[in-house]
Amino acid sequence: MAQRLIVIGGDAAGMSAASQARRRRGREDLEIVVFERGHFTSYSACGIPYWISGLVPDPEQLIARDPQTFRTDFAIDVRIRHEVVAIDLERREVVARDLEQGDEVRERFDELLYAAGAVPVKPPWAETDVTGVFGMQTLDDGAELRDWLDGEPQPHRAVVIGGGYIGVEMAEALIQRGLSVTLVERGDQPMSTVDGDMAELVADAMRGLGVTIRTGLSVNGLEQRDGRVSAVVTAEGSIPTDVVVLGLGVRPNTALAEAAGLPMGPTGGIRVDRRMRVVGLPGVWAAGDCVETLHRVSGMQVHVPLGTHANKQGRVAGINIGGGYATFMGVIGTAVTKVCDLEVGRTGLRERDATEAGFDFVSVIAESTNRAGYYPGARPMTVKLIAERPSGRLLGAQIVGWSEAAKRIDTLAVALWNGMTVDDMTALDLGYAPPYAPVWDPVLIAARKAVDVLAAASR
Ligand SMILES: Cc1cc2nc3c(=O)[nH]c(=O)nc-3n(C[C@H](O)[C@H](O)[C@H](O)COP(=O)(O)OP(=O)(O)OC[C@H]3O[C@@H](n4cnc5c(N)ncnc54)[C@H](O)[C@@H]3O)c2cc1C
Repeated sequence: MAQRLIVIGGDAAGMSAASQARRRRGREDLEIVVFERGHFTSYSACGIPYWISGLVPDPEQLIARDPQTFRTDFAIDVRIRHEVVAIDLERREVVARDLEQGDEVRERFDELLYAAGAVPVKPPWAETDVTGVFGMQTLDDGAELRDWLDGEPQPHRAVVIGGGYIGVEMAEALIQRGLSVTLVERGDQPMSTVDGDMAELVADAMRGLGVTIRTGLSVNGLEQRDGRVSAVVTAEGSIPTDVVVLGLGVRPNTALAEAAGLPMGPTGGIRVDRRMRVVGLPGVWAAGDCVETLHRVSGMQVHVPLGTHANKQGRVAGINIGGGYATFMGVIGTAVTKVCDLEVGRTGLRERDATEAGFDFVSVIAESTNRAGYYPGARPMTVKLIAERPSGRLLGAQIVGWSEAAKRIDTLAVALWNGMTVDDMTALDLGYAPPYAPVWDPVLIAARKAVDVLAAASR
């Protein structure tokens, strides 16, 4: 009899794993059933802001493979609108509810992959029946927001609560749809994934777009008129609005896993080993936004909910379930985003992370340009490096600038992944031509500056 793999969650991690397992084991050997409570599989949540803004006109463009393709081409039994409501590890069964019909089915498994993603953080005041308040995590969330924006009465004002990268991207999307947008952030600046000095550049760009930024301000509640949100309430008064988007971050979606007895780590994510096996539970796997992972620089366990990791972790789990051998080697916190044309990249530790992890370090900021100064389109680029003292090992990097800024972070990520020092980096053979860089690339300029600062600090 064929063995049976059950996958909970049909997006990045779940479908990567299912596809990899199928590539290695035929349908006679391994039956694969995926339960997905939403309407879609293998979609790009990362593309939602660009669909909201209208840049990507059709949600179908965000779907890599639909359930039917998985059924016919991969022999994977995908059941959308089915929510797994219980896991029985003893009997090796899951209970899934058909969200359209209301029926429940029990399905046995030999292998189980938990890939239920993350859920948006919702303070108690956001747990409400008031309409017009949206978390942004799945394509279904994006569809609900689109319907609200297109519906009657037409919203004109939006408040985005939380200035992480999702909040920033959503603020830009709503501005591009013609709404007047206020971003409320409890901290000193939006974009706290970079240090304050770099985040200020992002805040300036957002103001330039027309976004009103209110920092150091917490939201305490919502006001409503006829069941629709009409304002957010803060200590400094109410901010009138027709729609609220929550960008307060996400937490691992683990309620079901916890109830079943899967082990949780200090970050609240599921504990897995490098092969994505749930610690202490043979035949149970987890991947994606629901797990915690090793930060290769700080050595700490972290929860970094990004699609890039979810896809890789799903692939690793699927290879292993399929009888191969693969490991996920941890993360270094590389991420990129943009506000209009301003690009932002980061990797490794911020200053506050380096302090928390106990490093002695220096940080430098180098101003440069994306192209040779004389070449048309040359724009400023700011590179920040954080280097361990006295070794000079790169600990973190951030870049803010116009075109060609964000993906330059990958050069720094590779250096950091391989434990390079800033001194080593000054010798890197990076490409140069006037349309792409000044003769000294901004990365090399920053590395040279860091070497000088380290030398001065050791005198
Ligand atoms: C607006 C936005 C922009 C983003 N931009 C980027 C970006 O630019 N770069 C980047 O790397 N990452 C980005 N991300 C993050 C990225 O989308 C996620 O990290 C990635 O989707 C995680 O994949 P996952 O499979 O772990 O979880 P998810 O994609 O969340 O999938 C989990 C699935 O499980 C389903 N599910 C949950 N519980 C159950 C249950 N009990 N039964 C059945 N199904 C269930 C859910 O419906 C969901 O479809 C963005 C996310 C958002 C929301």
